[in-house]
Amino acid sequence: MSAQIIDGKALAAATKAEAAAEAAALKVQGIEPCLAVILVGKNPASQVYVRGKVKDCGECGIKSLELRMPETTTQEELLAKIAELAADKTVNGILVQLPLPKQIDERAVIDAIPPEKDVDGFSPVNVGRMQTGQPCFLPCTPAGCIRMIESTGTKIDGKNAVVIGRSNIVGKPAGPCCLAGPKKCQTVTVCHSHTANLKEICANADILVAAVGRAGFVTGDMVKPGAVVIDVGINRGADGKLHGDVNFEEASAVAGYITPVPGGVGPMTRAMLMKNTTQAAAMQNGVAI
Ligand code: NDP
Repeated sequence: MSAQIIDGKALAAATKAEAAAEAAALKVQGIEPCLAVILVGKNPASQVYVRGKVKDCGECGIKSLELRMPETTTQEELLAKIAELAADKTVNGILVQLPLPKQIDERAVIDAIPPEKDVDGFSPVNVGRMQTGQPCFLPCTPAGCIRMIESTGTKIDGKNAVVIGRSNIVGKPAGPCCLAGPKKCQTVTVCHSHTANLKEICANADILVAAVGRAGFVTGDMVKPGAVVIDVGINRGADGKLHGDVNFEEASAVAGYITPVPGGVGPMTRAMLMKNTTQAAAMQNGVAI
């Protein structure tokens, strides 16, 4: 293996330490940052994610409200809960764990979260602000990816970045918005299931972000020698273990830097949520941290 590992756990710990320092600074000013996490139903993966978020809050000195609603919750009931939290001045961030049961329209729920409390960065207002380079909450996964890329010290000006995947929560924001921001100056290609010549495009990427949802999708021949490879994928294998979208063994023989799964993008995503929550608390109270 030639690639250096980008240690997501260590970077996440440093990021959470930043969030903890910000939370402490806010408390000195009489402000207790608070994140409300709503879980509808009993999706096993969602329960794990929510538990993790609540634990992270505790570690960062952020108050958390874990609100569990039954699988049979109606859209009206969920929207009423969001409206209640939106009006509560002691709640700074509202996160609704996705996916939602089928009787609830995810878009309507995301739209109902006020942009200033939308710490997931999914609301149309935050997405629009991100697209136009205005201050906003960046979605946690792509924001974590950016920190991981920056941690390598790789000069990104003028480089080719390729993102595989175009979902609203990962691929789209990771591509044109975060990577091609005014100070980033690289050329970004966002690929998807209809992209022709995917292998060739990937093999020309100095920075390759895989958010496909298919274990081992990125093979060694798709990686440019020395590239930074960020593996967003979380896929549960038949062996019960978590696997990334990148064939780690093959890709790490070629790449310059690579993230592992687990222990890569996952922990960074959670850490960025803590940062967004302290930022939300500061903004809503008109203080700088
Ligand atoms: P989605 O299923 O919403 O999107 C997958 C994307 O991959 C789509 O845009 C799809 O293209 C594209 N795709 C699928 N097959 C191919 C193919 N053969 N060639 C090229 N592109 C393809 O997934 P998410 O974005 O939500 O998640 C992606 C992965 O990241 C999952 O494994 C998920 O678990 C993980 N994840 C990890 C997080 C973390 O914190 N580490 C957070 C969020 C997600 P098309 O649009 O054309 O269908």
